[in-house]
Amino acid sequence: MIYIFNRIIFAGKSGFPGRSVRLNLRHRKKTNYNILSFLIKFNKPLTISFFIFLSGFLFIYCSTAPVHEKQRSAVTTEDLIQPEQAPAAEAEKAVSENMSPAAQTVPEVYIPDLRNINSILNLEYPRDRLGGIFWREKDFNSTVYLSFDDGPNMNLMKGNEGFQTISDSILDTLKVHNIKAVFFINGQNLEFAVPAERDELKRVLMRMINEGHLIGNHSYNHHNLARGIYADGMNDREDIAREFNMTQAGLNDILEFVYPLVLVRPPYAEPGRSNELDLWLQSEQQYLISLQFDSYDYAFKADGNWNEVRLLERMEELLDEQPEGGVLLLHELESTAAILPGYIDKIITEKGFTTGKMEDLLIKKYGR
Ligand SMILES: [Zn+2]
Repeated sequence: MIYIFNRIIFAGKSGFPGRSVRLNLRHRKKTNYNILSFLIKFNKPLTISFFIFLSGFLFIYCSTAPVHEKQRSAVTTEDLIQPEQAPAAEAEKAVSENMSPAAQTVPEVYIPDLRNINSILNLEYPRDRLGGIFWREKDFNSTVYLSFDDGPNMNLMKGNEGFQTISDSILDTLKVHNIKAVFFINGQNLEFAVPAERDELKRVLMRMINEGHLIGNHSYNHHNLARGIYADGMNDREDIAREFNMTQAGLNDILEFVYPLVLVRPPYAEPGRSNELDLWLQSEQQYLISLQFDSYDYAFKADGNWNEVRLLERMEELLDEQPEGGVLLLHELESTAAILPGYIDKIITEKGFTTGKMEDLLIKKYGR
């Protein structure tokens, strides 16, 4: 009987997945025989009881060992891969898996569910063409819609109460004047090296959301999407999708919930945009938000010879040339942040413009 049990037990050993398990068993086999010979010699009933107990133990161990082995190897692989993954890639994975918003941690603040912007604002996205606010449009009723590209800008500048980020400075000014803007962000500005930077980015982005501004997508790398943006000169829909999706992924990663970016301003805005770009935006029901005014605020920065007076003069001329108003392109730059209070005063008080919200502009154009 002992030999029959032994055969049953050891017949299963060839099915074991791991070498270490097989070695363990070989060791057990030897121990098993030694104890058995000892017990057989002195007490037969005890020998049988002991052997039944040992067989039961070995049977349970053998049948569960492959599972343990599998689980252990799965955990090890995950542990090795995850810390190496770029945050953006991880978040992109989450988006691609269509993460349920309910399963995420959403702070208790007002977050516009822009994924449903069409139903929330009661808009009708055009069926046969691209939706958005375009370069050539007129009839803005002397209303100016502020938009800030290339942010968030976490560099520090001197404000009234010590140093603050450029984004915070702009947000402060908008708050004082009760103006709502759109911030077209670049995914590359959402990269961070240490957790403290990530916290700061989250704070600034949440400030934008909580204070009633909209965040839009300005691509990841700021390539000209109307030209070949990658080394192979390809500029197909996949390249374009990657640029926008990566920014979305980076934002999700910082915020820890999904804030869908449905307002898009491609780098270098509308002129020369490619057919592929249009088709991608249209297929995703994204609104292209172009501009009527280019403030050229970046040009002053690039020349290194800007000063507040000259920049304000240029911006004033610009307003004089566009009495009908429209979407105004500004950038999250120190120079822009510095002159913004004076600029808004000129728009509001001296020139007779008012400022408006992008939501209202979309409702006016696409409202049902
Ligand atoms: Zn830009």
